[in-house]
Amino acid sequence: MTSPTSPATPPAADAAALALQAELPAAIADGQLRVHYQQIVAAGTHRVVGVEALVRWQHPEHGLLGPGAFVPRAEGTPTMVALTTWVLQRAAAQCAAWRAAGHDIGVSVNLSAALVQHPDLLDTVRAVLAEHRLEPGVLTLEVTETALLADPCGAAAVLAALRAAGARVSLDDFGTGYTSLTMLRQLEVDELKIDRTFVAAAAQAPVDAAIVRALVDLAHRLSMEVVAEGVEDARTAERVRALGADVLQGYHFARPVPAEDVFTTAGGGPVDFPGARVSGPVPA
Ligand code: C2E
Ligand code: MG
Ligand code: MG
Ligand code: MG
Repeated sequence: MTSPTSPATPPAADAAALALQAELPAAIADGQLRVHYQQIVAAGTHRVVGVEALVRWQHPEHGLLGPGAFVPRAEGTPTMVALTTWVLQRAAAQCAAWRAAGHDIGVSVNLSAALVQHPDLLDTVRAVLAEHRLEPGVLTLEVTETALLADPCGAAAVLAALRAAGARVSLDDFGTGYTSLTMLRQLEVDELKIDRTFVAAAAQAPVDAAIVRALVDLAHRLSMEVVAEGVEDARTAERVRALGADVLQGYHFARPVPAEDVFTTAGGGPVDFPGARVSGPVPA
């Protein structure tokens, strides 16, 4: 089996990443993190049904950094708890504001692997839901398969408790990890997010379309909703809709953008050319 990890990082890049990691706790306290939101649309109507909250770091020297620059290294450290709690608070408040303004949408927040096992997670989620009066099913927590591998039984109990508290649970990047069918059965999640590698491939090759169709059927039989992520063009959107995906997310519809830009497109509908809404640096 080949290793899923990338080749060794060059020493210079490594040093830069370490420096960033050391700066992150102060940056969180200092208010340098931002949350961008990417629309999630119904497959049939393309109506916006939710947004995914995606963290960014408005770094004073390096500009706007994506999560790839600081999330993986923070994973498993106490900083990740602070980061996730902050994103959760922020996303819940923003979603409540949108709902108060008449947008009937939910919000999805990514949970890191270590967070799933953190003893305070359930209390934090309960507190956030109560503070912002979010109804059951409005907040979705996205977890990856790898986050659940270390302790599938423990994770299943945590996810069940989160659901009982009123959150939905989503399995993110599905298909890239090693979830067995037994684990899928144990987990009882609300939603399966099919990874973009499968989504993109489904529009290209019959064998990949067959895999997506099978995943969709399995998810539906287990009463899960299916999200196709990474939909980059109209052809793929139509293909995965025809294969049964319930909701779609990807650059074809919208890029992740600051909260104030999420509903500014005319009619709130899909953006029909790629790159129409590129996330740029946040003006000072
Ligand atoms: P993810 O949860 O799978 O989020 C989707 C990623 O795919 C986002 O990248 C999004 O910008 C990107 N994406 C969306 N549509 C398309 C598309 O059509 N084509 C392509 N090529 N990409 C698309 P981003 O924002 O860089 O986030 C990367 C990952 O970082 C996320 O993957 C998630 O695992 C992690 N992440 C982001 N925010 C948070 C956070 O607040 N907490 C934690 N723990 N992880 C986060
Ligand atoms: Mg996600
Ligand atoms: Mg994903
Ligand atoms: Mg992904």
